[in-house]
Amino acid sequence: MCACCHGPAGRGFARCFQCRVHAESAPGLLADVVAPVACVPKDSRLATDLWVYKSVWPGAREAGETLLALLLVFLRDQGPRVWQRAGMPTPGCACMVPSGRGRPGSHPLEALVRGRLSLPWVPLLARQGADAWGRVLDPGRFCAPRPLTGQAVLLLDDTWASGGTAQSAAVALKRAGAQSVAVVVVGRHLPAVTGSAGVPGTPDGAPGISRGVPGPAGAYPAPRSARPAPLVNRLDR
Ligand SMILES: [Zn+2]
Repeated sequence: MCACCHGPAGRGFARCFQCRVHAESAPGLLADVVAPVACVPKDSRLATDLWVYKSVWPGAREAGETLLALLLVFLRDQGPRVWQRAGMPTPGCACMVPSGRGRPGSHPLEALVRGRLSLPWVPLLARQGADAWGRVLDPGRFCAPRPLTGQAVLLLDDTWASGGTAQSAAVALKRAGAQSVAVVVVGRHLPAVTGSAGVPGTPDGAPGISRGVPGPAGAYPAPRSARPAPLVNRLDR
């Protein structure tokens, strides 16, 4: 299992190919932790929900509610452990990875989750001329319109395939001065299984959170500091 994105890594490698390329492309500027809420096998219900919720098809609202619930419960229950791995006491602001499809308006996940978190939101903008469809890490793809000096940022996205878009956003946040960036993605897409090497390995010290279930006891130590104030609000609504 990749120590960064929790996808499958080749035998003998700590990280998957894409995460190794990212580390070489933007050393010191990547997200400090990547926490998938769930792994998403092809053709799974979650894969469908991640596609349908952005559509105008029947079931879009229900799919969005499912994804929002998954994300909020994860942030409430696992957030403090994610923050600790990112080296932050708690996030000071939230940010959404900009939509890669040039979609007008706010990101559909942001529309769902905004107002559910007790955090200020900071924007990221796509630079003019950047490839909006690109999936590789492009350090110049996004920019923060204002300084984020010393900020601890919760960077959210709905999916992680290669991770290039989310890491490009993390680079922009770090270049704006962010001290730490914790990426939380709802679904970590898994490539089609092509043999034993394509099957995610057993947790090897990774948090064990990538399948959306709590990891084995002790695999993901609890924060040493006192639990911070709840970041997720209005779960009862
Ligand atoms: Zn990886």
